[in-house]
Amino acid sequence: MLRYLYILFIISVFFGVSKGQNQKQIDSIIYKINNTSGIKKAKTFCLAANYYKRNKPDTAILLSRNALQLNTELNNDTIQSNALGNIAECYANKSQFDSATAYYVKAIVIAEKIGSQKKMASYNNGLGMVFYQLGDIQKSIVYMQKAAAIKLKEGDVLYYATINCNIAGALQRLGKYNEAIAILRDSESKLKSFDNVEIIANLYNSLGSAYQLQSKNIDSVEYYYKKCIDLITNPELDYYRLAAYINISDLYIEKNKLDLAEQNIFKALSVVNKLNLGIEKIKTFEILSHLYEKKNDFPKALNYKKLQLSLRDSLINSEKEQIIQELDKKYQTEKKDSQIKEQELIIEKDANKRNKLIILFILVVFVLIIVTVYFLFKKQSQKAIERAKQKFFSNVVHEIRTPLSMIQAPLSLLKKNKNTEEEQYQINLAEKSIKRLNELVNQMLDISKIETQKYKLNNAFGDIRVFFEELGSYYSAIAFEKNISLITQINFQSTLLYFDKDALEKITGNLLSNAIKYTKSNKQIGLTVNINELEEDVNLEIIVWDTGIGISKKDQENIFERFYRGSESLAHASGVGIGLSLVNDLVLLYNGSINLKSEVNKGSTFTVNIKLKKPDNVVLELNNTSHSTDQKQILIVEDDASILEFNSRLLQNNNYTVLQANNGIEALQIIEKTLPDLIISDVMMPGMDGLEFLTNLKNNEVTNHIPIIFLSAKSTPNSRIDVLSLGAQSYLTKPFLPDELLALVKNQLAILTKKQVEFEEKIKEPEKTVEEKFVGTEPYTQKLFKLIFTNLDSSELTVEFLADLMATNRSHFQRKLKSITGFSPSELIKIIRLEKAKEFLIAKKGNITEVAYMVGFSSQSYFTKCFTDYFKNSPSEMLQKHH
Ligand code: ADP
Repeated sequence: MLRYLYILFIISVFFGVSKGQNQKQIDSIIYKINNTSGIKKAKTFCLAANYYKRNKPDTAILLSRNALQLNTELNNDTIQSNALGNIAECYANKSQFDSATAYYVKAIVIAEKIGSQKKMASYNNGLGMVFYQLGDIQKSIVYMQKAAAIKLKEGDVLYYATINCNIAGALQRLGKYNEAIAILRDSESKLKSFDNVEIIANLYNSLGSAYQLQSKNIDSVEYYYKKCIDLITNPELDYYRLAAYINISDLYIEKNKLDLAEQNIFKALSVVNKLNLGIEKIKTFEILSHLYEKKNDFPKALNYKKLQLSLRDSLINSEKEQIIQELDKKYQTEKKDSQIKEQELIIEKDANKRNKLIILFILVVFVLIIVTVYFLFKKQSQKAIERAKQKFFSNVVHEIRTPLSMIQAPLSLLKKNKNTEEEQYQINLAEKSIKRLNELVNQMLDISKIETQKYKLNNAFGDIRVFFEELGSYYSAIAFEKNISLITQINFQSTLLYFDKDALEKITGNLLSNAIKYTKSNKQIGLTVNINELEEDVNLEIIVWDTGIGISKKDQENIFERFYRGSESLAHASGVGIGLSLVNDLVLLYNGSINLKSEVNKGSTFTVNIKLKKPDNVVLELNNTSHSTDQKQILIVEDDASILEFNSRLLQNNNYTVLQANNGIEALQIIEKTLPDLIISDVMMPGMDGLEFLTNLKNNEVTNHIPIIFLSAKSTPNSRIDVLSLGAQSYLTKPFLPDELLALVKNQLAILTKKQVEFEEKIKEPEKTVEEKFVGTEPYTQKLFKLIFTNLDSSELTVEFLADLMATNRSHFQRKLKSITGFSPSELIKIIRLEKAKEFLIAKKGNITEVAYMVGFSSQSYFTKCFTDYFKNSPSEMLQKHH
């Protein structure tokens, strides 16, 4: 009977394959399987099968089948042959040799097809091993020799020697020990130049077993086994001396060296345990059982026999468990993967939501930017259009100006010719129209200049009083043409100021033109100018009033807008609606204000307030309070149109300004707007008769100073007494002599002037105290002076303040005071302040600064200047004089 020896049959090309699987490699393979697809995945399946095929053939078969499954679509021959070869080897390891044969045959066919010599050698070797296992040793040797021939041809000596070891094993089974030894010796000689310990060690084990079975050179047996064991020094390669450990144990058992056998078989067991080699462990348990049987230690022998058999069963079961574990692991991994994917999906959803919000935000910002840019662009283009319009406007206006002057020039030449009356009339008409056109064109140019900020105020030094007097008389003539009387009141003396003549002319002129334009014939309009000296500058107040058509509340809000025309005006006069807007623009250039009070069918009052600069060397002509330049205003109240006309002409021809009223009511309305110096009134009138009118005047402390001359058809003494007792100054019976009326007028006015002179003289009386000088001759002035004295030290003592306290409108207050005293309120305040200061200084009530403050001056330098101008002595000179 042939001896049973353990020969290490090496099938796989990779020697490391038989070593225990490294967990890391397994993990990486599982990872790859889970994370790759297609050819890569199939290849990974093959690689994994390669790792598992020795110890976990079922797992390896499963993995290879997966590879084949995948490859049905891929049709990759290399994968196909690898997978088939692996399955074949696994079946061989599982001792399912029929299946192994079938798979090896398939694998060899494909390997041949793709011409892989390496694979053909490997599979032929494997198939040879299967036939060896099946007991068909002849066939086994045939296939292994085929493999060896390929390897020899390829010059793969290591593999050739390995296969030779396998062939030697087979030959041993046939009892052909010499042949086996010959092949092994041939291999030994070929391997001399190699230092591959695994192959050489295997060769030595094979030689040992061959010699052992040959039973000739029994010493060589132990020698070769030992050589095999000693050659392997690296514990990593322990596998290659495992067979030698097992065989040498067998040898020692045979030789009855049981202890040595025991030592070696336990070394084999430790390698088997270390590498966790199932099949080899079974063999080891078998030897151990045999050993202890020999040692007569039957319990141990039985124990190892049991271990051997149960291991054989459990190997298959444990492998199944392993498969389940692997599958479970895979399932868990997949589960985790899907959880991760789910989470990723949630994160992705969140991110999508966030992204949507961000996109929305960006969109909103983008839209905002576009809208802003659009409006900026629109604004810019509007500005550009506006600029282009202004340019076009000013170009057109300039273009109109040239032909206009070309019409005007020949007209003025024509005018010099000897023309018939009709011709002259036509020429004048043409000239008038050209003048109007010129005015319009100039206004338009001014507007365009103001809009482009090119309009500059050219303030020049001049007498503002003279300026308004000239302007008044110019417009008075225009008004006269329409039978309208212009009442000009300039409530101050010659005053030198800095002002833009042109601008003031445009402001006042436009207001006066409108007043004339929107007032019916035989009515009055007025120009009242006041100045109020402030410390640094002067407030100029221009009041233009009329008794015309008036302006409705709604129109009042718009009339300062360009091209706006009031609804009332449309039926009355033509126009373009630029005059008031120009006035407004110019007033704004002066940082001033314009106010309007108007009532439909009653009239309008425009009040302009602007500040003008005082020249430093302004001289207050306080002592020269001559009234000669003052045109006196006389109001004629008369219902008879012809008498009204006649008397008006008579007075106007004698340099009086005439105001006209048809009855007492109208007269009171005019008086509300301006205080005349004198009134000539009829007694019998419709509406309000003369007596009622007179009572009204005398009962009003603002008007009670105005002298009245009555003209009446009634010549009865009673009526005369009635009138005179009511306070009228004179009574003339119609028909009267014009000179008589003129003389009466002159007398009354002279009385007024006389009163003024008296007042002026009184304040110059040196022996009188200031309070005695300014005592007042009637209740109104008495009250006024009292107010001035009580508020003297206050800088709030202004004309407005006094007018308010006296319950009189400012312009009436101005006129009334001037009429009674010859001084304007501001002049009066200043004179009283300076007189009082002089008194304080002389009485040593304080030093100059203190006195200045005591009399209401807030600046000492201004006080000194006014004091010196008035007394012709400076405060210190005054002090010295009275030392
Ligand atoms: P125009 O007189 O050419 O129409 P203005 O700009 O001077 O243009 O005046 C604008 C509008 O104001 C006039 O159309 C008119 O309705 C109204 N207006 C101006 N002044 C007076 C006034 N004194 N009385 C009545 N309405 C006036």
